[in-house]
Amino acid sequence: MAHNIEVELTSNKKKKPVTEQLEFGKYFTDHMFIMDYDGEQGWHQPRIIPYQPLLLDPAAKVFHYGQTVFEGLKAYRTPDGRTVLFRPQKNFQRLNLSNDRLSIPAVDEEFALEALKQLLVIDQDWIPEEQGTSLYIRPFVIATQPSLGASTSTHYQFIIIMSPVGSYYAEGIHPVKIHVESDYVRAVRGGVGMAKTAGNYAASLRAQDTAAASGYAQVLWLDGVHRKYIEEVGSMNVFFKINGTVVTPALNGSILDGVTRNSILQLVRSWNIPCEERQISIDELYEAHKNGTLEEAWGTGTAAVISPVGELNWNNERLVIHGGQTGELSSKLYNTLTGIQRGELKDEFGWLVQLSS
Ligand SMILES: *Cc1c(COP(=O)(O)O)cnc(C)c1O
Repeated sequence: MAHNIEVELTSNKKKKPVTEQLEFGKYFTDHMFIMDYDGEQGWHQPRIIPYQPLLLDPAAKVFHYGQTVFEGLKAYRTPDGRTVLFRPQKNFQRLNLSNDRLSIPAVDEEFALEALKQLLVIDQDWIPEEQGTSLYIRPFVIATQPSLGASTSTHYQFIIIMSPVGSYYAEGIHPVKIHVESDYVRAVRGGVGMAKTAGNYAASLRAQDTAAASGYAQVLWLDGVHRKYIEEVGSMNVFFKINGTVVTPALNGSILDGVTRNSILQLVRSWNIPCEERQISIDELYEAHKNGTLEEAWGTGTAAVISPVGELNWNNERLVIHGGQTGELSSKLYNTLTGIQRGELKDEFGWLVQLSS
């Protein structure tokens, strides 16, 4: 699919926010990428245009049946002035896994990356440079066929928008308190939990809001069948350090295969720290906490990178982890991964893709 990308530049550049104003996903760059799909032409008319509202029919299927998927990745400006993306191929691979699960036609992964690079060259000066900042990139696909028939859409749009961001958590990398959810579930095996799709988030908001009202930043989901095994936290995968061993739930079909999770596993293994991907029950965590072997806990995701967990609330008991402070391994992982992402540490794993502009 060797398409030429048409470019229409804006004549009306926006004022960029100062770093202190950056909130997650609040400001958007001057341009966006968009292409269309229909049965006859496949994906066609790729174009970069000024950032603007979409014009959609109110019957567009995405509004009614949620046929949509998304991705999230980041671009960084290195201290020596290069622009780099962190493992973007993995995001476009996963986009197609999500597409497949939602019956959305695949996009050409190489072409999507090429389109993203062109968009980045055009909006390069939107990448903030201060420590902890980056340009968050949101590719997504929506079903646009105007029809209330509850069936697979015939038409789609693939869009990329970009947003300069500071740290995900306003407080920086301080430990968060997490509520272990025992009423609601997020996903079950065979459902869409392993796809990055809007419905998973819609389904999580009630529990999220209830937890937030009691002072918890996120919820920790248990599996939907036994209500017993750890799944993930909000928009993050979750790790524990128990008696010197790093453990994280295995990819079981109901949790997301996070790029950050995968990177953390590679780092931990390269440091020869024992590491297991397996089922972890909430009872095991409770026991480990009781006997003092639950040493650290943290979430992993593109937005926050590493988010230490200082407290778990389960059945009205508060399990304080590492004295509510950030653990040594959590810090080391955060510093190493963000150091590699910002081009300050050696990219031993070949994770960075550089823009050649
Ligand atoms: C995006 C996401 C993650 C984290 O994935 P990364 O690729 O590391 O950003 C984890 N869980 C859910 C439900 C997600 O949507």
